[in-house]
Amino acid sequence: MATLGNPTNTIAVLQKYKFHFQKKYGQNFLVDANILEKIIDAAGVKRADCVLEIGPGIGTMTQYLCEYAREVVAVEIDKKLIPILEQDTLAAYDNVTIINEDILKLDINAIVREKNNGNAIKIVANLPYYITTPIIMGLFESHVPLDSITIMVQKEVAERMQAGPGTKDYGALSLAVQYYAKPQVMMTVSAGCFMPRPNVDSAVIKLMRHEMPPVMVSNEKFMFDIIRAAFNQRRKTLVNALGNAAGLCVKKEDVTAALEKMNLSSTIRGEALTLDDFAILTRLLDIDQIE
Ligand code: SAM
Repeated sequence: MATLGNPTNTIAVLQKYKFHFQKKYGQNFLVDANILEKIIDAAGVKRADCVLEIGPGIGTMTQYLCEYAREVVAVEIDKKLIPILEQDTLAAYDNVTIINEDILKLDINAIVREKNNGNAIKIVANLPYYITTPIIMGLFESHVPLDSITIMVQKEVAERMQAGPGTKDYGALSLAVQYYAKPQVMMTVSAGCFMPRPNVDSAVIKLMRHEMPPVMVSNEKFMFDIIRAAFNQRRKTLVNALGNAAGLCVKKEDVTAALEKMNLSSTIRGEALTLDDFAILTRLLDIDQIE
C-alpha cells in the first residue's frame, strides 16, 4: 500500500471506495507528508509507545504511527471508513486495533488497561474540530493515564489553551488545560494541507501532562464548577456570576468575603483570576459549603 500523505494517493482511495466526506464528522484529511512527519516528531513517538489516535480517517497518520510505535489504537466513528482501514490502508500492520466507536462514549481507561497494562499512553490526532473541547476535557477529567497529547486543532483553540489572565482568549479551557498539562504550540498548518480544505487555520499543540498539578486544590470538581460558572457570564463580576449560577449553591456574600480574604476587589471579574486564585477561592468556598 502506497503512503497516503499526498493528494494523488488519497484521491485514489476515496474513489476506489466511493467515499464521500461527512461534514458532520469534521472530516478534513491530511495530504501533506511533511506535516505528517513533523507531527510524529513533535509527539516524540518511540518504539516502546502505545498510541491512541482519535479519528484515523482513511489511515493517513495511522500508517506513520504504526511504523514508529509498538501499539496503535485507532478510534473512528464513521463506519464507512472501517473496511478501508481494515482491508486496505492498514491491512499490512499487525500492531493496530481499529475500533468503530464515538470517542466520547468509549471507556478509554479500559483500553489503556488492556493494551498498555494501565501505563501512560500518548495521544496523537488530527481532531474533528466540532468536539475538540469535550475530547480534551474528557481525557483529563476521567484521569486517563497519559504522557502527552499532540493534536491538530483550530488555531484559535490552540491560542485559548495557552492564554493567560486578562486576555480575551483566557477561559475555562485555558485553565483546565494548564491545570493538567503544559501546552506548547508546535506549528501552524495552512488549510491547503487538508482535503477538503477547512475554512479555518489550524495548529498542532502538544499538551505535556504535569506529574503534579501546579496548584493544590481541595476539591477539583468544585473548582471546575466555579471556573465554568465564572466564564459562563464572563462580563459579570465574579460575585454575580457565581451567586447567580444555577446548581453551584454559592452565596454572593460568601464570594465577597472570600475575595476580601484574598485581597481582591469585590467587583473583580473571573477573567482576572489566575489558576492559583481559583484554587484558593475553591478552598475558601468549599469550607463555607461544609460549615
Ligand atoms: N486522521 C485523519 C487525517 O489526519 O487525515 C482524519 C482526521 S479528520 C480531521 C477527523 C476524523 O475523526 C474523521 O475521520 C472523523 O470521521 C473522525 N471522527 C469524528 N467524530 C468522531 C468521534 N466522535 N469519535 C471518533 N472519531 C470521530
